[in-house]
Amino acid sequence: SDATDSGAPHGYADELSAVLIDGATLQAKIAELAAAVAADHHLDTPPLLVCVLKGAVMFVTDFARALPIPAELEFMAVTSYGSATSSSGVVRILKDLDRDITGRRVIIVEDIIDSGLTLSWLLKNLATRGPAAIDVVALLRKPEAVKVDIEVDYVGFDIPNEFVVGYGLDYDERYRDLPFVGLLGEHMYR
Ligand code: 5GP
Ligand code: MG
Ligand code: MG
Repeated sequence: SDATDSGAPHGYADELSAVLIDGATLQAKIAELAAAVAADHHLDTPPLLVCVLKGAVMFVTDFARALPIPAELEFMAVTSYGSATSSSGVVRILKDLDRDITGRRVIIVEDIIDSGLTLSWLLKNLATRGPAAIDVVALLRKPEAVKVDIEVDYVGFDIPNEFVVGYGLDYDERYRDLPFVGLLGEHMYR
């Protein structure tokens, strides 16, 4: 649909070419994901939601509130070297978890899986810390992701191989505050 009529904060509309997933569609899917995760996680100990900053911040806050079981929140920030629009798989921790995850059921909450390199690194890193289990919930997944051998337990939307922004996702730190997922106009890429 038309990005000029989408609730985009003033000043962004001219920069977007389309709305890919509107806010209501995001929230409906998040409710479904939350119900599926809750059905698989019993009430013995609350799972630890590990939000991968910054991209997953909007998703984790909506997901945690939609989840009908108690959960605890942790945040981790990583950076993967590469260009503004693709990752290299060489990952560095900018902010580590505050807590020990030994024996905990961890749910990694990711914004988007593209090459899968960031997630595959993260899975290996967290696995060395002795969690009881690690699941992954990702809001978005691109076609490239099927090429890497990682199991993403819960996926919101499979999207085309295009660069998306909004709902936490940035281009050069902009657009994270959009309440929907959209496509950046081609004229915005330098
Ligand atoms: P991967 O390592 O799977 O290639 O990419 C992981 C990270 O790259 C994501 O967590 C996200 O930060 C960024 N990324 C991948 N695809 C997109 C996209 O289409 N838009 C934005 N804004 N970031 C993306
Ligand atoms: Mg991410
Ligand atoms: Mg980014």
